[in-house]
Amino acid sequence: MPRIVVIGAGVSGLTCALLLAKQSKDNAVTVVAKHMPGDYDVEYTSPWAGANVLPMALEKDSRYERRTWPELRRLAAEVPESGIHFQRARVLRRKQDYQANGEFKGALSDGLFACSPWYKDVMDNYRELPSSELPEGIHSGCEFTSVCINTAIYLSWLVSQLAAHGVVFKRAVLRHISEAAGMHHTGQKADIVINASGLLACKLGGVMDSAVIPARGQIIVVRNECPDLGYMVSTSGSDDGDGDEMCYTMTRALGGGTILGGTYQKGNWDSQPDPNIAVRIMKRVVDNYPQLTGGKGIEAFSIIRHGVGLRPFRNGGARIEKEKLEDGTWVVHNYGHAGWGYQASYGCAEHVLELISIPQTSAPQPATMADR
Ligand code: FAD
Repeated sequence: MPRIVVIGAGVSGLTCALLLAKQSKDNAVTVVAKHMPGDYDVEYTSPWAGANVLPMALEKDSRYERRTWPELRRLAAEVPESGIHFQRARVLRRKQDYQANGEFKGALSDGLFACSPWYKDVMDNYRELPSSELPEGIHSGCEFTSVCINTAIYLSWLVSQLAAHGVVFKRAVLRHISEAAGMHHTGQKADIVINASGLLACKLGGVMDSAVIPARGQIIVVRNECPDLGYMVSTSGSDDGDGDEMCYTMTRALGGGTILGGTYQKGNWDSQPDPNIAVRIMKRVVDNYPQLTGGKGIEAFSIIRHGVGLRPFRNGGARIEKEKLEDGTWVVHNYGHAGWGYQASYGCAEHVLELISIPQTSAPQPATMADR
């Protein structure tokens, strides 16, 4: 019976644990984590995400998002208690973010804002917006069917699925990755450790990955919903921010409120919401979508909370690879998913399972993905 310890109870660790538990009832899985679903801590990214599916990889790196979409779509269609529902997504490309040849030159350099993106053949009901539907200052845009994930419910749902499959949870703070193999619930040494420690991979002994830095995301969760708006929107930048601010909204399933965003501040560890940024976020949203507050301005937002999450950005892309520790334990790393941890979660976890099943005789094979 393979004994497996998963470090981390964010979306990356929980999804790996779920695929392992479903793969075989012989897989004996323990999840060890400092933070668990239900906690709100700036070191723990997953609860802070919107979250939705807006494909961000470049085409060459799109494997993880392509593989994840069918499962998230299935959950939205068939498993309402997972907290995922369908929502139309609208991507708006600002004129100043494009060169004359149509190439994207904005600060958020990812596949999302490409004109003619690869995901037009993957996401359902994709259409380019006719010029009659483009707001002022917008070069072009597209719309497609996507999902919005109520992360508070989805993370808890993952825990309940794992419990039903016999996965055991342990709270612990590891100082060094070599401690993990000794944490298996059977009391015996684990055969394999999966490292899904997210942003804290830069601080975990034996990993200390200096390529991992925070990409600070400030958001506001409000009670306002706007059925007339009917879609989630994301623009390629903002006129009044520092190049690392954008305008996006999405309404979570099951009464989770509407997320207003946001920022993408690389290297910024500040856990406190900045009031000036908060005002800019709200103003941008009501300027573009006054319907959200019934035309009454930002004062009419009913605020649930201001929040800051730190995306686990990794220079060079996510680390999904196998490594043998000095004590002989095999570790499969799965961290550094920046702003796309949910929308690539199943694809990344599948890759982790592939690495576990392949006998390791050669050097580890890194897999990277473009960052948001
Ligand atoms: P985490 O959720 O941080 O989990 C790490 C786990 O490892 C925790 O349980 C932690 O306690 C544990 N851990 C770490 N170190 C130790 C240790 N030493 N000992 C014990 N346990 C340890 N993604 C999308 O796909 N779509 C979106 O729309 C989206 N929007 C976002 C919006 C914002 C504002 C933010 C902040 C993020 C967004 N993301 C989005 C990104 C997504 O949230 C992250 O990519 C994802 O949550 C990373 O998950 P993770 O499991 O790798 O890390």
